[in-house]
Amino acid sequence: MAGDSATIFALASGAGRGAVALLRISGAESFAIIQKLAGRVPPARRLAVRPLYNAAGELLDRAVVVWLPGPGSYTGEDAAELHVHGGPAVVRVVTDALLRAGCRAAEPGEFSRRAFLNGRMDLLEAEGVADLVAAETEGQRKQALRQVAGEASRRLAEWAGRLRRVLAWQEALIDFPDEDLPEEVGGQLTSEVATLRAEIELAAAESRSGVRIRDGLVFAVAGAPNVGKSSLVNALAGRDVAIVAPSPGTTRDALEVPVELGGVSVTLVDTAGLRDTFDPVEAEGVRRARMRAATADLVVQVVDATALPEGPPMEGALLLANKVDLAAPPVGALGVSALTGVGLDLVRKVLAAEAVRLTGVGGSAVLSRARHIGALAEAAEALGRFESVQLPELRGEELRLAMRGLGRITGAVDVEDVLDTVFGAFCIGK
Ligand code: GDP
Repeated sequence: MAGDSATIFALASGAGRGAVALLRISGAESFAIIQKLAGRVPPARRLAVRPLYNAAGELLDRAVVVWLPGPGSYTGEDAAELHVHGGPAVVRVVTDALLRAGCRAAEPGEFSRRAFLNGRMDLLEAEGVADLVAAETEGQRKQALRQVAGEASRRLAEWAGRLRRVLAWQEALIDFPDEDLPEEVGGQLTSEVATLRAEIELAAAESRSGVRIRDGLVFAVAGAPNVGKSSLVNALAGRDVAIVAPSPGTTRDALEVPVELGGVSVTLVDTAGLRDTFDPVEAEGVRRARMRAATADLVVQVVDATALPEGPPMEGALLLANKVDLAAPPVGALGVSALTGVGLDLVRKVLAAEAVRLTGVGGSAVLSRARHIGALAEAAEALGRFESVQLPELRGEELRLAMRGLGRITGAVDVEDVLDTVFGAFCIGK
């Protein structure tokens, strides 16, 4: 189990057939294990082709073998890699030989967890690695890469350094109340705390767009039946996914279609078929769809240009008039025809612009998870209380709480309770 010191291995490349499969090994026995399988261990950090044998002396494959002594490896431990031929049967026999040689299969995120525990990366960088592996859009890739490269960690380290300094001043005020400390110390301290609080609050606000980039946005496509919602979702997604035969008894759930708009991952929720029903299963689908639409980042209201609805458009919604191949769009609506494709490019551009606006892509989001925002808020609140209490000892305590909040983000303090959550979400082999 995670936390022991066993030598672990995992298939780090994707499952299934490929030209090459990568097996990673990490732990104190790495050298001995490579020796058992490959005979001679190549010089450190050099690729060498070696035959791999099992304990019975049977040839399993010819593989590229890499020996990566710690502490300069990904995990900080002695490690190795086997680049074997990527067929499932090859992977199976080599895996078997590794198990027999005394390795244990790694759990999800175990390599990165060891890297974190060995000080090779902090928690933010490790989370960045997981996000980079999961990234599907440009926005996600760039954000994760910034985190892996330590941009967020540096910002946090800078705040922590400044907090440490004000804490030192505060402690000087506690320890030497009667000494002649320069008068401006008190004032400087208060203004530095106020500045820090403002910066941290701003970062928390900006990080909400970081969360949106990471998790993606939800755009609900709303409108009366038959205006062309499903057709539009299909046209935008460039494939036929949203059509569900509305035959009697068929449950029409909200259909969720992932698309990339402006480098942002967006889920289009087609709320077609949202009608009141007595069927409990269908009602549950409708309830969920309504909830998704209610909490959507943007509502796209579709109307039929040939049969315009009475009443004003939905507030805050982006208004699209579909079927402009049959009738002109009303003033203020973007005209489109899901059938002919007229206006579709413009709709796509407008939606992309909305996605970019909502995520602030290219903006300065430092962090990307609810966990981070919670900890930033905790730090900012402690600094807020610092400003309202007078007793020096209490002020010192609030500064320490603020530092603790920041330290939790990088994993410098209170790590145990977050490790399983953070690393459990990784894929195996990372
Ligand atoms: P929904 O109930 O809002 O999801 O509507 P659908 O996408 O199922 O479309 C309802 C009907 O309108 C279908 O017969 C579509 O072929 C038709 N339709 C959808 N978009 C257009 C369009 O742009 N022009 C025309 N002429 N017909 C369309």
